[in-house]
Amino acid sequence: MTEDERRGVDLLVAVARGVIELGSAARASAFRLPYPPVLQLALDRMVLAGLTQGTPVPHGVPDLLSWIRERGPETLPLALPRDFLTAEARLIHPAGGEATRTCAELASYGPHGVLEQEAAALMAELADACGTEERFETCRDFLISRPVILRYDPVQLMRPAVAMTWRFVKGLYAPVPDRFAADGVLYRCTGCLLLAKLLASGGRWCEGGCPAHDGELESSHQPEQALVLPLSLRIFLALPGRAERAVRSRLSERVRLIPRGLGLHCITSGDGTLRTYQVHDREQPVLAALRAAETDARLGEPLDIVVPDELVASPGYRESFNRALPAGARVHLLSVSEFTALPPVDQERGSHA
Ligand SMILES: [Zn+2]
Repeated sequence: MTEDERRGVDLLVAVARGVIELGSAARASAFRLPYPPVLQLALDRMVLAGLTQGTPVPHGVPDLLSWIRERGPETLPLALPRDFLTAEARLIHPAGGEATRTCAELASYGPHGVLEQEAAALMAELADACGTEERFETCRDFLISRPVILRYDPVQLMRPAVAMTWRFVKGLYAPVPDRFAADGVLYRCTGCLLLAKLLASGGRWCEGGCPAHDGELESSHQPEQALVLPLSLRIFLALPGRAERAVRSRLSERVRLIPRGLGLHCITSGDGTLRTYQVHDREQPVLAALRAAETDARLGEPLDIVVPDELVASPGYRESFNRALPAGARVHLLSVSEFTALPPVDQERGSHA
């Protein structure tokens, strides 16, 4: 990465953080005044760079917001490394009008990343509060399976089977921001279980980016009764959580949760050999690879990154991921199907020795 590109990435990351900050406000429209200082600052730097180079620049924050909704980040007056983001990447979804997963992943990039780091901090607090690994795992599973509670029913949550779990996790839920309930109706996608919108065009948008055939929308006419996890946990815990459960259900080996960061897993083969893996569901392969390499470095042993099959099948994903891995990183990208079809750990590792 050249110095220019590094500055460009920093600037784009600042814009992404500003968009996330704007969206976190519980307002009818996400992208209204007052604008976060980080966004204004990034715009000022961008305008300065654009004017020096004689390229078109956004005329103020509202213009910047429509720019990144209508056009890709590569059209902004900043230098980005080649293939840093996928070709169709956007920071704001053109139809949904909400920050994209790419935006969330960019906001988490680097040592001053905010979103994924927030999710990890919340999980660390939960692990501390839970005290035991078993209770933490139960609470974590609860969050993965219920990122959006469409109809909060205190009686249901006080049943003996869930009352204890609810006591530990309820503090993580908050009312749904008003802007998601258009005309008094709130939607949840049955594919990703996250927030969704029915668009004026007749189409649909959901936070997980499910294809239209992948799940229906459920609705509630009492949005004030709905509860939702913060965006950080929706995107970085609940979304990959679907694939994580698919992996767990297909493995015959014993899977153990390592309560570190967003959660790692290890499987133990018959002879006691361990294999450590983390399940990801991320739009941007380069950002995912850099994050995986950091986790691997902290872990100090080989790490398998397991992602949904359709992600590995998307053109160039695996190549971009592998190319972005720093030298020496012991990270291996596998789809859910590839990972769950692997021979037992001892044979597999032995064959590569
Ligand atoms: Zn969805």
